[in-house]
Amino acid sequence: MVWMNVDKPTKKCTLHMNSSCTYLQKKRETPNKGVGNLKLDGGWLSFADPKLAKLYHHSNLPEYELIDHC
Ligand SMILES: [Zn+2]
Repeated sequence: MVWMNVDKPTKKCTLHMNSSCTYLQKKRETPNKGVGNLKLDGGWLSFADPKLAKLYHHSNLPEYELIDHC
């Protein structure tokens, strides 16, 4: 499973593929960012594999920068 951090204010999608990444370990729900859903400022979405995450980005958020973090 991979996670994508969708950040609406900066228009960035950051893809995390390494489960030991410190960003992944720190992810949590906040008032403006969801985990498993998008809120006002975005959130964390999980995908079965990186291809599906990239497809989601391409289909839904093409104007966002896609960053491969780990
Ligand atoms: Zn990462």
